[in-house]
Amino acid sequence: ERHSPILEVEGLSKSFGEIKALSDVDLAIEQGEVHTIIGPNGAGKTTLFNLITGSLRPTAGSVQFKDQDVTKKSLDARTRFGLTRVFQSAEIFPDLTVKENLRLAAQSREQSLNPLSRQKEGHERDAEEMLNAIDLGVSATTNSEDLSHGDKKRLEIGMSLATKPNCLLLDEPTSGVSEKDSQRIIDQLIEMTADITVILIEHDIDIVMGVSDRITALESGQRIAQGSPEEIEDNEEVQRAYLGGY
Ligand code: ATP
Repeated sequence: ERHSPILEVEGLSKSFGEIKALSDVDLAIEQGEVHTIIGPNGAGKTTLFNLITGSLRPTAGSVQFKDQDVTKKSLDARTRFGLTRVFQSAEIFPDLTVKENLRLAAQSREQSLNPLSRQKEGHERDAEEMLNAIDLGVSATTNSEDLSHGDKKRLEIGMSLATKPNCLLLDEPTSGVSEKDSQRIIDQLIEMTADITVILIEHDIDIVMGVSDRITALESGQRIAQGSPEEIEDNEEVQRAYLGGY
């Protein structure tokens, strides 16, 4: 079933001086899909993410989210619209417990929408639910800095989802995590994001092929292919870019 795109990127370009990090990229992300961005090192994946979330301003092109032009909107404004990048470890309060961090995340979007809102019990419930969803119930009262790397990654995802985004961007959610833990993180992620749109950067090609509805491949700042996992696997441009690495 096809829906209208929730996010539409047109002619998006970004130069850093002489370096063309991204050149004229088009992208239409459908509501509810898991869309993965792949490409070799330096292909422009992170730059594309930064342009979509508003951490960077494009040299040219536009970003539309839920039929609004957000190209000139700040990162915070985009977060309020529900276009959210996953929390980075640096944004977790290390000396607060896991549950306290989840509660703060649950509060954060609503408070930015309405600073006077005070729905404490709602947030408590949201934090509790999220705690179970990410399987960190036993660590509820653990200081976040004492979590293992894999658990921290799951807390980042949990905190991001607690802000109730419509569209969540994740930049390598399994980086530095053991293979077994990676699969667990990805499985939980897919379960928890069944109702929302996910844009993912991921290097592990088995994970990419397993979770993606569609894939966009970048190389040297340009879009070289887009399609289903099967289409991407069979695509000659993609195979060439990876030098037969698939
Ligand atoms: P990786 O997989 O290694 O993270 P990537 O696909 O995310 O790579 P980008 O980080 O988007 O690629 O980088 C694309 C190109 O833009 C690279 O050549 C990079 O060196 C360059 N670049 C990125 N950010 C900057 C910056 N702030 N200043 C100058 N050049 C930059």
